[in-house]
Amino acid sequence: MSHNPIRPWRNIQRRKSRQIMVGKVPVGGDAPISVQTMTNTDSGDVKATLAQVIAAADAGADIVRISAPDQAATRALKEIVRESPVPIVADIHFHYKRAIEAAEAGVGCLRINPGNIGDESRVKEVIRAARDNACSIRIGVNAGSLERHLLEKYGEPCPDAMVESGLEHIRILQDNDFHEFKISCKASDVFMAAAAYQALADATDAPIHLGITEAGGLTSGTIKSAIGLGNLLWMGVGDTIRVSLSADPVEEVKVGFEILKSLGLRHRGVNIISCPSCARQGFDVIKTVEALEKRLEHIKTPMSLSIIGCVVNGPGEALMTDVGFTGGGAGSGMVYLAGKQSHKLSNAQMIDHIVEQVEKRAEAIEAETAAADRAAE
Ligand code: SF4
Repeated sequence: MSHNPIRPWRNIQRRKSRQIMVGKVPVGGDAPISVQTMTNTDSGDVKATLAQVIAAADAGADIVRISAPDQAATRALKEIVRESPVPIVADIHFHYKRAIEAAEAGVGCLRINPGNIGDESRVKEVIRAARDNACSIRIGVNAGSLERHLLEKYGEPCPDAMVESGLEHIRILQDNDFHEFKISCKASDVFMAAAAYQALADATDAPIHLGITEAGGLTSGTIKSAIGLGNLLWMGVGDTIRVSLSADPVEEVKVGFEILKSLGLRHRGVNIISCPSCARQGFDVIKTVEALEKRLEHIKTPMSLSIIGCVVNGPGEALMTDVGFTGGGAGSGMVYLAGKQSHKLSNAQMIDHIVEQVEKRAEAIEAETAAADRAAE
């Protein structure tokens, strides 16, 4: 995170971690915090799974995970990996053979806990397959599936037990001289997950995959994830994130990005600043924002748009946004461009006109960025 001398209260000092690769996507170090999701189709159904991977990638996912519970799934992975625009992580539970098949199918990462796949020879075989196929590993500790000896030692799932479990799995990989791994330690309890992640962040320099597991439906899960992941990210912990929702994977990606955008850690698409509306509104703010969110989904350029119901807050917000609209009286309002008052606009033409202005501004920002990149070469 680059430091901002004008607004130091926005600085987030990221924890220093090693960098690994998940396919072509770097995770950890100074790489941008990546956003992941997971498909929920039958993994053996190439067409349906690939469609979901592509939809998630279009929404901004950097990495997509696919469950590989059987051979039909690992067979399908080969074709999915070939066609996917983003690296694929294969989720393996216990079966070491599925892990080997997935690595050979070309996935970028295996989600597997080396302590759960049997004797040392199996662990070595999986590590060899990962190494031979340039495949990294994600150790995934989960409060709900801790090893029996840890539950006996600690009595119940707790942050210390989770961290101990993670470090045991790490040791197995390190003993086999394998260092291309990242780690998660998820819990559905926000406090437990946050405490475990903080302790883990101090105990290892491996990149950290953040998640609040089984967070719930779209609204409650979003809030839980924003609190849990938001706090950790704010403290500088986390190199890649997955928001787990009982909802479409595309929603997980959108929520993940919104969390990162709220903290200034990633920027993508239009950040809409809008008021909640009240009796002073000069137009229907809620309907307008709903319509604009849909109409502006295709914009990937990071930029801001303020849609404010009246002059109480409109001009002030518009000063800090690329495009702004503030409701006025008599069925019209004021358009602001690059923070400056520009022209009057009737409410009836507002949506089409704002979309046009945002598209123009996005083009201008892209051209400025390209010119700056050329000058820096
Ligand atoms: S900006 Fe105006 S319309 Fe929007 S909530 Fe505030 S007072 Fe109401």
